[in-house]
Amino acid sequence: MKIAVQTESPELAPQSSDPLDHLADVLFHRMGSDGVYARTALYEDVVERLTALISRHREPNTEVMRFPPVMSRAQLEKSGYLKSFPNLLGCVCGLHGTEREIHAAVSRFDAGGDWTTSLSPADLVLSPAACYPVYPIAAARGPLPAGGLRFDVAADCFRREPSRHLDRLQSFRMREYVCIGSPDDVSAFRERWMVRAQGIARDLGLTFRVDQASDPFFGRVGQMKAVSQKQQSLKFELLVPLRSQEQPTACMSFNYHRDHFGTTWGIKDVDGEPAHTGCVAFGMDRLAVAMFHTHGTDLRQWPAKVRDALELSAHSAADAHVEGWR
Ligand code: 5GP
Ligand code: ZN
Repeated sequence: MKIAVQTESPELAPQSSDPLDHLADVLFHRMGSDGVYARTALYEDVVERLTALISRHREPNTEVMRFPPVMSRAQLEKSGYLKSFPNLLGCVCGLHGTEREIHAAVSRFDAGGDWTTSLSPADLVLSPAACYPVYPIAAARGPLPAGGLRFDVAADCFRREPSRHLDRLQSFRMREYVCIGSPDDVSAFRERWMVRAQGIARDLGLTFRVDQASDPFFGRVGQMKAVSQKQQSLKFELLVPLRSQEQPTACMSFNYHRDHFGTTWGIKDVDGEPAHTGCVAFGMDRLAVAMFHTHGTDLRQWPAKVRDALELSAHSAADAHVEGWR
């Protein structure tokens, strides 16, 4: 985990020479914490257009759900998150005591002391990925139909890894297509999406490669989990060389969880076997940063094919029309 040193400067790391830094002032406003940024209209417009592009590629019979940025702590615990990424989890906490205890905490703060020692955990965590809440919802529906189920989910996600790099946010948007079904359903789903997603990346004019990957499992045991994940080809990523070829940025991931969530939540496929699951995840903020880094910050200069993919051409004609009147 990269933990950057805080400086007094309100600007983003003028002393460092990260290749993405030049985008900071155009895309973001600082909010007092590394990896948590307000977004400019220019940036948000591109995120919305990328979102619409991904929606246009949605497969038929896919149920849309949108999740809030928090989820049940019990559900995430049951999903096994603490065994894999305890260091990344953000937990909601609050002042849950009596009126007297809460007053005491606030008075301590007013006197220059630390109020946070009175905090206790709530039953919520910040969602670390968009797909976790969908499995218990699917489980509650009973046995899967033939062909399984497909979902389109999204959430604001949180991972506690402060960094000054603009492609490593603590709070970022994740969009996912999820398949819950037989092993064949899930394998075919992931294959289809690995092809389709590369088509999307080509339409966006991005330089990329798709490669096997592993998750950043915590600790020494975690390193073994990562090796096994790679050996079993459970994760692939679409990598865009933003800062270098050697350290490309993962903008999408293609994940096969085998029967992990099926067994955890008691989801059965048509044959009565524990369901298998898989997901394709789109890092919306990373995709947007990749677009600006690749094509520049003037949308009018973006290649025509890219503008078409994002339906920017009609927009610019309107702009030109308005400018003509000035
Ligand atoms: P995964 O669950 O595979 O780690 O994450 C799915 C996708 O979310 C990644 O491929 C990436 O695009 C996005 N993502 C993961 N971590 C970060 C992060 O720290 N910052 C941003 N902006 N996106 C991230
Ligand atoms: Zn997922």
